[in-house]
Amino acid sequence: MSEIDDRALRLPWHEALWRHMSVGLAADRVAHGVLVAGTPGVGKRRFAWRLVAALLCRELSDDGEACGLCPGCRQRAAGTHPDISRLTPEDTGKAIKVDQVRRFSHALHLTPQYSTGRVGWIDPADSLSISAANSLLKTLEEPPAGCHIVLISDRVSALLPTIRSRCQIWTVPAAEPTTARSWLAARDFDANRVDDDSLRAPLALLARRDMDAESLIEHWDKDLARLLARRANPVSVAERAYEAERRLWVDWLYRRCNDLLLATLGSESSSLDRGLAEGARRLGVRRIEAWSRRVTEVARTAGTNADWRLVVESVFIELSQYVAEATDTP
Ligand SMILES: [Zn+2]
Repeated sequence: MSEIDDRALRLPWHEALWRHMSVGLAADRVAHGVLVAGTPGVGKRRFAWRLVAALLCRELSDDGEACGLCPGCRQRAAGTHPDISRLTPEDTGKAIKVDQVRRFSHALHLTPQYSTGRVGWIDPADSLSISAANSLLKTLEEPPAGCHIVLISDRVSALLPTIRSRCQIWTVPAAEPTTARSWLAARDFDANRVDDDSLRAPLALLARRDMDAESLIEHWDKDLARLLARRANPVSVAERAYEAERRLWVDWLYRRCNDLLLATLGSESSSLDRGLAEGARRLGVRRIEAWSRRVTEVARTAGTNADWRLVVESVFIELSQYVAEATDTP
C-alpha cells in the first residue's frame, strides 16, 4: 500500500466491518495472521492499511483509529516506518519466491524499533508460490511476540488451505450502490449512468477514470503541440476537448498555460515536453500572457451555463491567432 492520507482509508461501506475490528484493537485481540479478502475494487488495501496504521499507533483513539500524530504514525505516513516488512512479487504479476519469504520471516524476527511490534504485509497473498507458501507456514503459526502479518487477496480460494486456516479472514464487503454513488460524487465522479454492479466496486471505477484521464491528457498535449506548430485546426481540436469531463479539461488547460508561461521564462522546473516548450518559446511571453487571460476566463465560465462548445473553441481559436501572428512577425 502506498502512503495515502489516513482519511482516505475510511470508506463508508467498511464501517460495520471496521467496528468489529476496532473492538478487537481496543482489547488487543487482533489475530496475528489477518487475511483481508474481498472482490477487486472494494478497498481491501485501504481497510488493511487502516489496520496496520492502528497496530503501529502509540496513541490509538478509543474507536480504534490511528492518531496520525505520534512518531509511529508519522513514520508510517512518510513510508519510513522501520517495523513494516513487505512481501510482494519482485515483478508485477509474478510469483512471490521462497527466498523472499525467508528474508521476510527473518526481518519479522528482528527486535522492533517501537513497542508496537512488527507488521508484515503480504500483497497479493495468492501470488505466493507453493514452496513460498509452505515456507511461510511456520512464521504464520508461531509469529514473533507482538508481530502481526496482514495478507491481502481477492482470490482466497487460490491460497493453500494451510495458509487460510492460520489466518483470521476479514472479508471486505462490496459497496451498496447508493452509498457508492454519493461517495463517488464527492470525488467528482458522475456515477448517474453507471450500473449497480459496477458501483459495488467503486475503487475500480476511480482507477479506470484515472487511467482514462492519463490517455486524454496525452491526446490534449499532442493537440496543443500541433496547434503551436500550426499543424492543427483549432475547431477540430476543440471538438475532442468539448466531449471531455469539464473539470479535468479545465485543470489541464490551466496547468499547461502556466507551464507554457514558465517555459518562455526559461524555467528549468517546467515539466513540459520539448515540443510544447519550443512552441511556447516561439510564441513568446507577451502572447502567452494575453492567452492566459482567456484561459482564466474559460475556467470562470466552466461552472455556468454558457455555450461550452463556443467557449472551448474560442480558447483554441485565440491561441491559433497568436501562433499565426508569431509566425508572421516573430
Ligand atoms: Zn499514532
